[in-house]
Amino acid sequence: MASYPLVLAIDGPAASGKGTLARRLAAQYGLPHLDTGLLYRATARALLDQGHVLSDVNAAVAAAEALDAAHLPETRLRGAEMGEAASVVAAMPLVRAALVDLQRRFARAPVGAVLDGRDIGTVICPDATVKLFVTASPTVRAARRHKELASQPGAPDFDTVLADIRRRDARDSGRADAPLKAADDAVVIDTSALGIDEALAAAMAVINARRLASGA
Ligand code: C5P
Repeated sequence: MASYPLVLAIDGPAASGKGTLARRLAAQYGLPHLDTGLLYRATARALLDQGHVLSDVNAAVAAAEALDAAHLPETRLRGAEMGEAASVVAAMPLVRAALVDLQRRFARAPVGAVLDGRDIGTVICPDATVKLFVTASPTVRAARRHKELASQPGAPDFDTVLADIRRRDARDSGRADAPLKAADDAVVIDTSALGIDEALAAAMAVINARRLASGA
């Protein structure tokens, strides 16, 4: 059946399960995977490390242009604080523009690719073979994040995590440039009541049906 490339665009809000799903799909179909949230996180990190404020557009664009996607210091980029900082620089159209080519080049790998983020199906890969929009209710997402963080010292309480999630949703969905939204031809997977294996099965059913129909 498979005549590649197979490009999978996985979008959705924070803690929807899209990152885990994207990694599992990449392993399943033997595709390279790019977590595009790391690009915005790394841009914000570089800006702060250089002593700039997050609102400095020129410095943010320079940081985005200087990114080396092959060497993103993932452990320094995780966490709610960097997610919040990333969503500030991600609302700057010039920062987004500086990161487009890198993402599109990644998606053009001969075998195809899996990219996850907020605007993959709408802006970065409008011709993706399959677009999934992975979501879950804010309370379910906050509960997941709260559980992940619970073992860490100084972990925030549930209400703080929920407020963070709602604030980030509002910023990502409300921005003028490439807001978080499902592409018209995306298939929505609501993971509120699904475990990762069930979400993977739902995603694979969509992908396999599309591959059969398109020969990808
Ligand atoms: O997915 P993650 O939580 O790592 O993303 C961090 C932030 O980066 C998001 O809240 C969003 O503002 C931004 N982002 C984006 N477009 C993407 C990926 C992430 O605007 N494709």
